[in-house]
Amino acid sequence: MTKIHHQGEITRRGFFERSAGALATAGILTGGLDATEAVPDPGKKLESPTPDSTPKYGKIALEEHFAVPGTVPDSYTSLPTPESRLQIQDLGSGRIAEMDRNGLELCILSESGPASIQTISNTSEAIARSRRSNDYLAEHIAKYPKRLKGFAALPMQDPQVAAQELTRCVKELGFCGALVNGFSQVGEADSAVFYDLPQYRPFWATVQQLDVPFYLHPRFPLATRQQAYEGHAWIAGSAWGFAVETSIHALRLMGSGLFDEYPKLKVILGHLGEGLPFGIWRVDHRISRTSVRPKAKLPMAHYLRENFYITTSGAFRTQALTNVIMEVGADRVLYSVDYPYEDMSEATAWFDNAPISEPDRLKIAQGNARQLFRL
Ligand code: MN
Repeated sequence: MTKIHHQGEITRRGFFERSAGALATAGILTGGLDATEAVPDPGKKLESPTPDSTPKYGKIALEEHFAVPGTVPDSYTSLPTPESRLQIQDLGSGRIAEMDRNGLELCILSESGPASIQTISNTSEAIARSRRSNDYLAEHIAKYPKRLKGFAALPMQDPQVAAQELTRCVKELGFCGALVNGFSQVGEADSAVFYDLPQYRPFWATVQQLDVPFYLHPRFPLATRQQAYEGHAWIAGSAWGFAVETSIHALRLMGSGLFDEYPKLKVILGHLGEGLPFGIWRVDHRISRTSVRPKAKLPMAHYLRENFYITTSGAFRTQALTNVIMEVGADRVLYSVDYPYEDMSEATAWFDNAPISEPDRLKIAQGNARQLFRL
């Protein structure tokens, strides 16, 4: 057994020792989730017996989105209300007030939405748009330097320019890393280019050298590759398809040997790991029993624990969080909301009262982020 696996065991044992009391209180370790609870009730929340409404700690959140004004059409179904379409364009007092109400000390903002850079198949247009977006973000976060920071939007259509833009954003604009919305359409609209491909290796060298994380955020699959969702548009988006798209992309990165070549790379996944913590044991188990093998030298679980960080964005569920902590350790989990697609108040009410140990809660709320971003 490798040293890394050994550390993983200690982390999980530590989790049990520290959290057993809290889990028992919640009924998790005492059979409280019995057969009558087996049918999930989406409206029911798992809470501790005495929820405290005062926000805990000064939380740091890192999947918090903005959009440049004029890029959010009224028809955008992910932001169905006029209020939410205004919230995503607010990089000022409204957002800060909402952070204050919910005990969020700092948010790292990133661009997301219908017109993400990754969907622009014209490379020079993608380059120009990402520069404008990053400059716009820098200008606004400068007004609240203690409350707002930024992730770079990158024109991955051109790996060399993407590396240059990331360098500019980190060194000149003080950004914390990059957030990229999945694969890129390059040259033609009906193309999907993933970042495990050889042309991206120099880009990853730059990411490792800058020592900043790369947040791999979901996106919609291409219209021509949605056969599995046909007649069921609701599956394709954030309900399920986002996790499928993003987990496949993350597995491609792992399996390609990227992390053997650049072992210090740090990739962040949202939504409690897009299903990977739940499935990773079986991934390795099946790899070991088939003749179709990835190029990577080590088990995928190794990379998930050593090269990935996982946030709580848009996944406010104690059962799933517990699984993530047991699989990768509490040191790799970070609080996030996914505002304004999700409510800060709902995320806070869940997280602040979730039956996990206080040392783990503090790490996830801010300690791990302070370490990762050297804050
Ligand atoms: Mn998001």
